[in-house]
Amino acid sequence: MICDVCKIREAEIYQPHSGRKLCRNCFIEDIRKRVEKEADKIGLKNASKILLAVSGGKDSFVLADTLASFIDSKRLVAYNITEGIHGYNRKEQVEQLRKFLTELGIDLIEDSFKESVGFTLDEMVKSSREKGLNVSACTFCGGFRRKLINNAGRLVNADYVATGHNLDDEVQAIVINLIRGDLLRLIRFGDKPLKLSSKFVLRVKPLRKIYEWETTMYAYYKGYNFQEVECPYIISRPTLRAKVRELLYILEENKPGALLNIIEEFDRISENVRKEYSTKEELKELPRCKICGEPTSYGREICKNCELLIKSGLLHQ
Ligand code: SF4
Ligand code: ZN
Repeated sequence: MICDVCKIREAEIYQPHSGRKLCRNCFIEDIRKRVEKEADKIGLKNASKILLAVSGGKDSFVLADTLASFIDSKRLVAYNITEGIHGYNRKEQVEQLRKFLTELGIDLIEDSFKESVGFTLDEMVKSSREKGLNVSACTFCGGFRRKLINNAGRLVNADYVATGHNLDDEVQAIVINLIRGDLLRLIRFGDKPLKLSSKFVLRVKPLRKIYEWETTMYAYYKGYNFQEVECPYIISRPTLRAKVRELLYILEENKPGALLNIIEEFDRISENVRKEYSTKEELKELPRCKICGEPTSYGREICKNCELLIKSGLLHQ
């Protein structure tokens, strides 16, 4: 079977959403071009500094590799957080990541929950359970990660913070927020990031139109040695996401390209919804947390992160 694009090399991969058979080179080139197109649309190509939030998982390798192929690596800086999860965070993993980034000419900033929050994720979870708090590890993890990533973006004067979320992640989040009827959260998922506070660095997702199976194959073809150990807290992930994920798989299998169509339509619609909401109070500058000074949701005095620490007995007002 010959590749449908170059018509020279042997095809190795079938891309259901485009109906094409591709060779390894043309597949990699296809991913790169699609990331470049999205980056262009977001405005990344003109940014003077972009902070890449990298976990060490396959998507973060793909993010760094694709961006470095069309953006000068001096304008990219990577940031990694060690959450402090026993058996999951490993030194070798960060070393592997550093080696790969160095080859691309990208500096890596290392941080940890212990250093910047004062506690490892394990310590936060343990303490919250002792206090009888019914909050999942992922709630702690996601909230503090977002905060630290934003702080790091500000510290290096980044115009954007780029994360490795792929198409599957993005459509799952869109559907979950639709189910919850949370329109204000929902419009944050459009292709044009919203800046709800002057303290926020704009968050963008250059891989948001790349299927998860495609990032896996890209990483595999490039021979990346990525983190394959699963986080022990994954079982405490919200079940709604797992269900939506499963349903979307079935949908995509029956109608290849469905996820891409959803996100493209969503981007178009969210533009109009955004215009309609632009006068709402919630879309103006967010209030600041009385404790840490960081932005918090409208109507709150203390941010969710500080509240979690207080309720876990780790922070005293
Ligand atoms: Fe954090 Fe949850 Fe992901 Fe584990 S599964 S790394 S706790 S968000
Ligand atoms: Zn706070």
